[in-house]
This record gives sequence, structure tokens and C-alpha cells, in this order.
Amino acid sequence: MDEVIILGAGVGGLSLGLALHQAGIACRIFESVPEIKAIGVGINLLPHATRELAALGLEDALARVAIETKDATFFNRFGQLIYREPLGRAAGYDHPQFSIHRGDLQMVLLDAFRARAGSDRLVTNSHCIGVEQDGAGVTVRFADGPGGAGRFTARGHVAIACDGINSAIRKQFFPDEGEPRYSGVNMWRGVTRWRPMLSGASMVRAGWLSHGKMVIYPIRVTGSDGLQLVNWVAEIETPTYRKRDWNRAGSLEDFIGAFADWHFDWLDVPAFIRAADSVLEFPMVDQDPLPRWSFGRVTLLGDAAHPMVPRGSNGAGQAILDTRAMTTALIANDDPVAAFAAYEKQRLEATTRVVLTNRTNPPDAILREVYQRTNDRPFKAIGDVISHDELVALSDSYKQIAGFSKEALRA
Ligand SMILES: Cc1cc2nc3c(=O)[nH]c(=O)nc-3n(C[C@H](O)[C@H](O)[C@H](O)COP(=O)(O)OP(=O)(O)OC[C@H]3O[C@@H](n4cnc5c(N)ncnc54)[C@H](O)[C@@H]3O)c2cc1C
Repeated sequence: MDEVIILGAGVGGLSLGLALHQAGIACRIFESVPEIKAIGVGINLLPHATRELAALGLEDALARVAIETKDATFFNRFGQLIYREPLGRAAGYDHPQFSIHRGDLQMVLLDAFRARAGSDRLVTNSHCIGVEQDGAGVTVRFADGPGGAGRFTARGHVAIACDGINSAIRKQFFPDEGEPRYSGVNMWRGVTRWRPMLSGASMVRAGWLSHGKMVIYPIRVTGSDGLQLVNWVAEIETPTYRKRDWNRAGSLEDFIGAFADWHFDWLDVPAFIRAADSVLEFPMVDQDPLPRWSFGRVTLLGDAAHPMVPRGSNGAGQAILDTRAMTTALIANDDPVAAFAAYEKQRLEATTRVVLTNRTNPPDAILREVYQRTNDRPFKAIGDVISHDELVALSDSYKQIAGFSKEALRA
């Protein structure tokens, strides 16, 4: 019998597999898709997450494929600079902030897991459809892939559902919860090969959701042509949306009009968008925080437990923080039910705060403040609109809530 059954080989499942393996706890990961492919676009790993990944011995492997992000810059939709602050090591953290292609991150985790734990510890084509438990363990039921007709079971000591925002186990425990909750903002995402802009390692946020907001950051090191792979997200308040599918192609014409006059000295935004390799369309969704994650020998982790709108660069990071809490709890408690209770105690309230703050006051609250105070007009000097101290306070309060203030990490 496998000690720990992990459901899903995304960022959370693979990080958990690596952390448990490092702790000498046997586990097996069951993943729905037949083959793990490098899907997605950009993701950010902040110093609270890179600290955990460094403890798993992955910092060098990540540094080889990621961009070490140096600064955050905020602009209004007229291209005027509102605020700039250093990030990661440039801000004095002990660990870097990485901007990375989600596929590159998943491959670093996957290669490390297979090399350390053994390839047989990851079983693909195993789409979880439910779990039962008794006093001695869990029996997980699978179909052979999403929609597959074949059925089989696996027996384990405990099961941890890391199966993402449409988690089958979450649905089993909360059957009336309904579909993910639409935030009212639709996103078009893509990657463009482009010259380094600003510091060459800047995370840019510009505009505001009502007219159109852009998030732009490079995710892969410069090639011999001097170009970087640059991730971008266009976010616009839109009344209707289609259910999230990570592979759904988006259409430029549905959103590029919002950015038609964004010709800045640091970037020609329409030209940049038009040069994209491809465009994906995702609705910005989350779920209301749950009252509990653990049911005896079964619990939830990562997006399965606390899906959040991607406005604070914290989705992957909070999943990685969960894996640390989970591993510590399993080491400290022989009784898995007690371990899951300890894990939940440490993480449920903390992640609830992040989920709710991402809805109301994520880092881009800086953009909202300036948008409202200027009535969406250009300003003469930013100091007339908002003080530097206020800007710092808005940024710092999110760091504290999401658990990546320098003081918290050093402590
Ligand atoms: C294909 C894909 C592309 C993504 N692209 C981006 C992106 O570009 N930018 C971004 O910020 N975030 C993206 N995300 C989400 C991001 O990875 C997560 O928000 C975050 O990393 C938390 O990770 P997680 O492991 O909890 O969930 P995920 O990374 O979503 O991983 C969940 C895993 O579980 C598997 N799974 C799902 N259902 C089952 C089941 N029933 N049985 C077994 N396995 C199952 C999935 O195939 C996946 O591998 C993407 C997620 C996916 C699945």
C-alpha cells in the first residue's frame, strides 16, 4: 500500500511529492492526463515560494529557465509611471522572485520527482473520480484518463487532492458548491518574443480593469537573437464568459481595441500584442473559501483547496506553501487524521485571507486608487494624486497578508 496518494501532478502535487520524498515519506502521484505537456503561460514565484523550492534543491534548475524578476512597475493607461519598487533579491530578500513559463516550472518539478522518487511513482492516465475510506486507509477510484471508460482503484494510507480548480474530491465533499465564481473580469493571455523592456526583468502592471489592464513580464532568458519570451495578460471587465479551459484559443479582435492607443516610449502595446505566438482566453474565477478541507484521511491542497483570482502572483506560491505545512504535519503526527487537522489549522485561515484579499485589495489596488482619484485622466505629478507612503503601504499590506514580507520570511 502506498503511504500517501497524491491526486494531480500540477505545481502543488509535484512539489508535495518532492517534499514528501525528501522527508522519507513514500508517495505515488496519479495524474489525469496521458502525458504531461508544458501547458500554460507565465507564472510568478515569490520569495516565500522560492525559499521552499530552494529547500528542495531546485533553485539552480529554476534559475536556468526562469527570469529573476528585479522590479514591479505600475503605470496608468497613458503610460505615466505611478510607482516602482524592487522585487526579490533586488529588494533584499534571501531568495529570488522568478517569472517562469508554467510549463518550464512543471518540467523542472517533474524531472526532479522522476529522478529522485522513480518514474513508477507517477502514474498518468489516472483521472480520479472518487474516494472511499475506512479505518485503515483510502480506496481511490479512477477512470483511465478524463472521460475514459476503463476503471481501476488504488489503495493508500491517505489521499491528498491536488487536482486543481475543478477538483473531483472537492466536488465529492461539497456537491452543492457549484461552478467556479466569475469575477466579472475576462483575461486574454499570450507570449510574445520581444526585446527586453524597462529593466529587462520588470513586472509591469498598467491601466485599470474597467477600460483594460495589462500585466507584462518576461519569462524566459534572452536567446541569441536578443529577444525574451514575454508573458502578457489583458484583463477587462466583461459581463459574459466561457467556462475555463486552459487551452481555449482567444481572439485578438475581442480585446485589442482597449489598448489601441497604448503607444508608450517603453513599449508599443498593440504591436506587442499582435506579435504574440498565440492567444488564450480564460475567465478570472475563484471559489468562496471552504469551512474545512479535511475529511478523515482525505484532504485538499493548492487550487483544489483555495482557488484564487490571479491578481497577486500567489496561486502557485500558496500551493507550494501548503506542501511545506503538509510535510511538517505528516512528520510530526503518526495519526494522519491529526496531521491533516494540523495542516488545515496552519493553512486554511491563511489562504482564506489571500483569496479574499485578491478579490478586493491585491497589489493592483495601486492602479485602482490612481484611476479613481484622477477620474481616469493623466496627472501632472503622481505626488499630487497619491503619496509615496500610501503607495508603499498598499504594496506592503498585500505582502503581509500573503506571507512574503521580508520580516515574516526571516522570522
Ligand atoms: C493545464 C494548466 C495550465 C495552467 N496555466 C496557467 C498559467 O498559464 N498561468 C497561471 O498563473 N496558472 C496556470 N495554471 C494554474 C496554476 O498552475 C495553479 O493555479 C497553481 O499552480 C496551483 O497549482 P495546483 O497544483 O493546485 O493546480 P494545477 O497546477 O491546476 O494542477 C492540477 C493538476 O491536477 C490534474 N487533475 C485535474 N483533475 C484531475 C483528476 N480528477 N484526477 C487526477 N488529476 C487531475 C491536472 O491535470 C493538473 O495536472 C494552469 C493549470 C493547468 C492545469
